[in-house]
Amino acid sequence: MAESDLLAPLHNIVGQYERESLDKVNDLRLAQSVVLGIIILTILIEAFIIFRPMVDKVSRYASKLQRDANFDYLSGLLNRRAFQIIAQQSIGAGHRYNRQLSLIMLDIDFFKRINDSYGHEVGDSAIKHVSNILKAESRESDCVARIGGEEFVLLLPDTDRDGAEKLANKLRIKVSESPLVANNDEIEITLSGGVASVRLEDKNIEIALSDADEALYRAKRNGRNQVQLA
Ligand code: GH3
Ligand code: MG
Ligand code: MG
Repeated sequence: MAESDLLAPLHNIVGQYERESLDKVNDLRLAQSVVLGIIILTILIEAFIIFRPMVDKVSRYASKLQRDANFDYLSGLLNRRAFQIIAQQSIGAGHRYNRQLSLIMLDIDFFKRINDSYGHEVGDSAIKHVSNILKAESRESDCVARIGGEEFVLLLPDTDRDGAEKLANKLRIKVSESPLVANNDEIEITLSGGVASVRLEDKNIEIALSDADEALYRAKRNGRNQVQLA
């Protein structure tokens, strides 16, 4: 047999083998793409169904922790800790830019009687009621906090002691004219207040707090439902 007679069928066989191999490589490539697609799809599904809700949950929890750390659960006002931090920052800013800063301390009069006569839940409602009025009647820039059972403070930036006294009396009058309705009763609530200005040389808020506290107790001794200046 001539050499060319042998080469032609061999050439055909090699060609066919080559085509089959290419088909197989293409099939493998397709299978590889499908598997890759499935992996990417699985990761996306996990990201949306598992990781995203998980991340949302963690960030919601983190915000709740942040809220609980800074806000009083009952009144929704800032708590003592947050008040101290904001007061410290405000003193720093007041010092730097020579801005006035005043403080009002308010305490519900004879609050124990409300608890004793109507129960603790109504007492709690009275605290919320007063808190809502303080928040609604003060400026957005004022810092309103509940620092004790029935004790509140307001830190007033850019306000002198006379301005603070005016606001304290406005709040006192508003509360006294807004009885709490509970158990078909109208419960009258009054506040006593002490007002102090924060001296710019003060290192922290404690001196002004103690000045306002001293004025508050003068208001109590003088018959309550009034505001006294430090
Ligand atoms: P004063 O006019 O001298 O301030 O008298 P007061 O009765 O308001 O003050 P006192 O300090 O004698 O009583 C405060 C009461 O507040 C006692 C305490 O049981 C109550 N109290 C403190 N925190 C809460 C609270 O979160 N909810 C309720 N319902 N009562 C509280
Ligand atoms: Mg009281
Ligand atoms: Mg008190």
